[in-house]
Amino acid sequence: MNQYDLIVVGLGAVGSAALYQASKGGARALGIDRFDPPHTMGSSHGDTRITRQSIGEGEIYMPFIRRSNEIWRDLETSTGQELFLESGGLIIAPESATASFHVPGDFVALSVDIAEKYGIPHEVLSAEEIKRHFPMLMPRPVDRAYYEPGAGVLRPERCINAQLDLAIEAGAAIRTQEKMIRYQADSQGVTVVTDRDNFRADKLILATGAWIGDLLPESYRAGIRVCRQVIYWFEAENLEAFYPENCPFVIWIGDRLEDFWSTFPAPRDGLPGVKLVTEQYHTSTHADALSRQVSPEETADMYHRLTVPRLKGLRENLIHADVCMYTVSADEHFVIDYHPESERVVVASPCSGHGFKHSAAVGETLAQLALDGGSEFDISAFELARLGDIRE
Ligand SMILES: Cc1cc2nc3c(=O)[nH]c(=O)nc-3n(C[C@H](O)[C@H](O)[C@H](O)COP(=O)(O)OP(=O)(O)OC[C@H]3O[C@@H](n4cnc5c(N)ncnc54)[C@H](O)[C@@H]3O)c2cc1C
Repeated sequence: MNQYDLIVVGLGAVGSAALYQASKGGARALGIDRFDPPHTMGSSHGDTRITRQSIGEGEIYMPFIRRSNEIWRDLETSTGQELFLESGGLIIAPESATASFHVPGDFVALSVDIAEKYGIPHEVLSAEEIKRHFPMLMPRPVDRAYYEPGAGVLRPERCINAQLDLAIEAGAAIRTQEKMIRYQADSQGVTVVTDRDNFRADKLILATGAWIGDLLPESYRAGIRVCRQVIYWFEAENLEAFYPENCPFVIWIGDRLEDFWSTFPAPRDGLPGVKLVTEQYHTSTHADALSRQVSPEETADMYHRLTVPRLKGLRENLIHADVCMYTVSADEHFVIDYHPESERVVVASPCSGHGFKHSAAVGETLAQLALDGGSEFDISAFELARLGDIRE
């Protein structure tokens, strides 16, 4: 009863995708999560996630975004649910930006380069053009933007639910509210010990998100940090102006890291407010020590310092706030690799705050690594060993 081809621990964005792909391919698979996904305790909640076709983080991500977009579309067809809302997307930054966004360099220029190379429809807008097209935005005169009309937002909770439902339909077993305490790999397979039971499988995928550091050898941990982020929903004077057909997402890149934040379009069936998200890397924590309270001071900072000078039409009335975690590697790239202690164990994440859009294909790749022994994509840039060289 407790013997499987594959166990996936962690059923968030990445793990639900891995479980779905493995069970669809015929594997006897078990998924385990310490909470009840989709939930608000990890990194995949908050109703919307930005997705764009031009991945300024690097060409290594292009196979992942293209395959993920195919999977999201297939999931929409299979479930009859809308998982993607096309709103268009803006990345706004001054040419002189001194702090880098996700990767070194000018993120607007990097996005333009990739868009040109891959034939992705886009425009470069001056500050005046941004204001003319999107009257709620107030960029500075020094700003300019990469604009991608086909970009938009995914609905993360629905994506996770869809993949878990389809995994169950394909025969997967799922255990929630059950925490993996430890695992042991040997020459015959892997034993997973939870707080309720023991399981055995040929292969194991660890997709535990912000908790992944606990499962890696000590020497790799310094290369991974968990950064607390806050998601705010503020009341709008006219919410319709922020519906996806009227309002693109905006990634605001300033001169300093503390000026980075994002604005999201408001889905008609979402919370009745406009979602704004922090992008902070100054402080890090452990996932179990995360402060989940959002203080009036940080709310005021988001509203007065960041929002008021750049965005028209929001009232200082906080409708809701949530805390979320970025799990950031030292070079802000992904980890997709075998565990250094056993090839029976595959490790995913950290996705460094830009992983949701790619998660469908990352999950598929993990399933291929575990079950087929390799991936059709080049994942050499995502190997774990690079983090072992990093010392605090
Ligand atoms: C505020 C915020 C905004 C973001 N915006 C974007 C965006 O716009 N676009 C984008 O592409 N990406 C974005 N990201 C990043 C993206 O959401 C994450 O990279 C992605 O969701 C991470 O998925 P995951 O599966 O690795 O982690 P999670 O979804 O957190 O899943 C990990 C799972 O592992 C489980 N788990 C952990 N330990 C155990 C254990 N011992 N036993 C059993 N289960 C365990 C947890 O309960 C959890 O369900 C954002 C992230 C945040 C926090």
